[in-house]
Amino acid sequence: MTSQDYINKEDKYGAHNYHPLPVVLEKGEGVFVWDVEGKKYYDFLSAYSAVNQGHCHPKIIGAMTEQAKKLTLTSRAFYNNVLGEFEEYVTKYFGYDKVLPMNTGAEADETALKLARKWGYDKKGIPEGEAKIIVCENNFHGRTITIISMSTDPDAYKGFGPYTPGFKTIPYNDINALKKELEDENVAAFLVEPIQGEAGVFVPENGYLKKAFDLCKANNVLFIADEVQTGIARTGKLLAVDHEGVRPDILILGKAISGGAMPISAVLADDDIMLVIKPGEHGSTFGGNPLAGKVAIAALEVVKEEKLAENAERMGKIFREELSNIKSDMVELVRGKGLLNAMIIKPKNGKEAWDVCLKLRDNGLLAKPTHGHIIRFAPPLVINEEQIRDAAKIIKETILSF
Ligand code: PLP
Repeated sequence: MTSQDYINKEDKYGAHNYHPLPVVLEKGEGVFVWDVEGKKYYDFLSAYSAVNQGHCHPKIIGAMTEQAKKLTLTSRAFYNNVLGEFEEYVTKYFGYDKVLPMNTGAEADETALKLARKWGYDKKGIPEGEAKIIVCENNFHGRTITIISMSTDPDAYKGFGPYTPGFKTIPYNDINALKKELEDENVAAFLVEPIQGEAGVFVPENGYLKKAFDLCKANNVLFIADEVQTGIARTGKLLAVDHEGVRPDILILGKAISGGAMPISAVLADDDIMLVIKPGEHGSTFGGNPLAGKVAIAALEVVKEEKLAENAERMGKIFREELSNIKSDMVELVRGKGLLNAMIIKPKNGKEAWDVCLKLRDNGLLAKPTHGHIIRFAPPLVINEEQIRDAAKIIKETILSF
């Protein structure tokens, strides 16, 4: 079968809820992927920052296959001999009392919202049914009904109402707007992405997160960080909030906690918050399964052993420096932190970001536009200096060819 055959098959039998770049992949190793015709590419998306440790990392796949032969799923109806080990490992790793394991990022966000509301009623004394959660314009937290109810992107929410109430939207990176909304005593939490990834890698002003955190504390409001995309070394620190020395009350992780091997997500908090949820009030069949536990421990070990945060910081600087040398009226701006970067494309002769991505593909580098005019560049964090300079050269030559 050719690439086109595979594309036709997906088109015929699959729902049309995505618009993929036309490339059909069959193999991955480290920073590279190969298509079904054997062509090799730099992966500059990393499955939306899930494959931070590189494709098919031998340590992660080793842990996965070993555990897969022993026990994969018990459900939480019974104990298993891995979950406690994972829980101890991940809570000590990030410095929290407790973890609640789930599967996808969206589920972890939903978990955090439930936790915040319950905390609001049980601990803060908000009247039942009145809890509010402050969210930001242009947020992206997933695709469930409640999460799209918080969205300001019509592509995400339009046609899917009625919407879940209880959210108040404020502009991102606007501390005064937050201050004003926090005057409402029924606010339980402020949910924020430390860098808005899906929106196009919007990096807030230095100090925004710290100021927002301090304001939340002054008003007895929980600060929830959605680090599903920014977390686990992507931005040059273990967590993006670490750039500002902020410790969220609730921390949401997903994607790279498995190194892209399987869906694993987690919500971390201290006892006074986490223990408001009682047996029977939340869960999932697969959340906390022993296969996920072993995979996540291995994936988190790789992050430390291979110093991925430090590498992301160093490679990110080189990458942005290289990209800033591209002299083209098609490049409006390059922004980002660590290895979470974006290039804003100004259309030229009818050619847009999508056309740039098609040509990048032809030249051996895969990236995907977001919101039409922004290209995100987020390679696996195991990339080395020679590779990042080579990739930057491909991007430069591609842009200059228009
Ligand atoms: N939160 C953030 C910040 C994300 O970027 C994403 C996905 O891109 C999600 C949540 C949703 O994760 P998932 O697709 O695993 O549900």
